Amino acid sequence: MSSDLPAFRYHSDPLASGSIRESVETCACCSRATGWIYTATFYTAQEVSGRFCPWCIADGSAAERFAGEFMDSYGLDGVSEEILHEVTRRTPGFDSWQDPHWLVHCHDAAAFIGEVGYSELAAQPEALDQLRHDLRIGGWHNAAQLEQFLSHLGQGATAMLFRCTACGTHLAYVDSS
Ligand SMILES: [Zn+2]
Ligand SMILES: [Zn+2]
Repeated sequence: MSSDLPAFRYHSDPLASGSIRESVETCACCSRATGWIYTATFYTAQEVSGRFCPWCIADGSAAERFAGEFMDSYGLDGVSEEILHEVTRRTPGFDSWQDPHWLVHCHDAAAFIGEVGYSELAAQPEALDQLRHDLRIGGWHNAAQLEQFLSHLGQGATAMLFRCTACGTHLAYVDSS
């Protein structure tokens, strides 16, 4: 079924991540009931009476019509303006406790996979190592406490998992309530 949906280079399976769901709702942009609706973040100063279908995200019409963005550009450093616009204006965002942001690898935006706990993260050792490194730099100096925190991801705090579109490396950041 998901093969009917438009392809999103930077959010390859928005059904799995929960950002797009099956719904009978009509789209606030094209007024069609496509069977699918977007459920996550959209930032605009305008009033939007409803939610969007995946097609109005993919072709940029929702972002253009309501002068909005699905994702803040925070974190998207060192990528071209074209990539920046594709992520912020033509890619489904995702819900999180803190302000969501996007990760970058190989000078390209990474593809968002989803919110994960420790076991899914441990299945991608390079993402776990990178997260451990980032948290140490961020002030987690007690190794035992850090491992304790990491092993409990999925309970309260979670990890947002991405995959580099160029080299395939997985990377993540921590989101907590
Ligand atoms: Zn639409
Ligand atoms: Zn890479």
